[in-house]
Amino acid sequence: MTIVDGNALANEIRDKLTASLSALVVKSGIEPCAAIIQITTDPSASLYTRRLQRTLTSAGIAVRVIEMADDTRVDVAVAKIRDLGEDPAVHAIQIQTPLPGHIPLATLTEVLNPHKDVDGIHPTNAGLLAQGLPAVVPATPLGGLHILLHHEVPLSGARAVVVGRSAPVGRPMALLLLQQDATVTVCHSRTTSLGDIIRQADIVAVAAGRPGLVTADMIRTGAAVIDFGTNVVGGKLVGDVDPAAADRAGLFTPVPGGTGPVTNAMLLHNVLALYKHFLEEAP
Ligand code: NAP
Repeated sequence: MTIVDGNALANEIRDKLTASLSALVVKSGIEPCAAIIQITTDPSASLYTRRLQRTLTSAGIAVRVIEMADDTRVDVAVAKIRDLGEDPAVHAIQIQTPLPGHIPLATLTEVLNPHKDVDGIHPTNAGLLAQGLPAVVPATPLGGLHILLHHEVPLSGARAVVVGRSAPVGRPMALLLLQQDATVTVCHSRTTSLGDIIRQADIVAVAAGRPGLVTADMIRTGAAVIDFGTNVVGGKLVGDVDPAAADRAGLFTPVPGGTGPVTNAMLLHNVLALYKHFLEEAP
């Protein structure tokens, strides 16, 4: 049985990406630059922004952090994202969530340049992924797939169950598994007999935000379990899957230390992909 060491895997990914990036920078002479927009002063959002900033800067990427107040007007936020989209010195834009209630994410993604979309949230990228075409893929599910591929979990013909259908996690995870020729079932809050469905699965990927939703008895012996859940319970970070399920699984991502660090490394992967695209398109 494999307990995934997300930190070690993330370090390995970051080292490889950093080497590829520095080779590109030497060849092009153009400094890669990413912008992180955070429209809240919430300390936990700032913590996440700083973590991403550290990942990017230590790989040699210049980072512009744009912190805007919680009461920022929608038109001001929209104008900022538009400006960054047109700025030739900026190759990647990350919009941090959550956003203040009066700013819908869709309003911002509408004006986001899809060629600078770090987390694959622009409808163009989501549409390309849905059609099985090359796209910028949201970092969390991309990390989930990377974990499965890295550990050589057989995907073609495998029965995969994804719990959760959100745009940034569950839905793209299902599409990525489908691209790998798995037979995919997507479950959500209206699914009946969740346990019976999960018990059929060779691969279970869970992104529900419900601590302990998936219990050990739902896991088929030897199944690969990817837990994206990050929930704070009694001051501790826990996943959506009961840790006791690890005893039955063939591969298991713990929380913390499983999918989380890999997501962060995949954001770097996406920035590198956007920078590469910029260089290829440059006159
Ligand atoms: P979300 O937008 O709230 O979506 C949750 C999904 O789970 C929805 O599709 C919902 O169904 C489904 N769901 C809720 N209760 C359920 C139940 N009892 N049975 C089956 N399905 C249920 O959340 P999200 O953004 O996808 O995030 C999910 C979790 O992943 C959260 O804990 C979040 O913190 C975590 N996350 C982790 C990472 C990482 O890097 N590890 C990154 C992003 C998010 P409906 O569609 O029917 O409402």
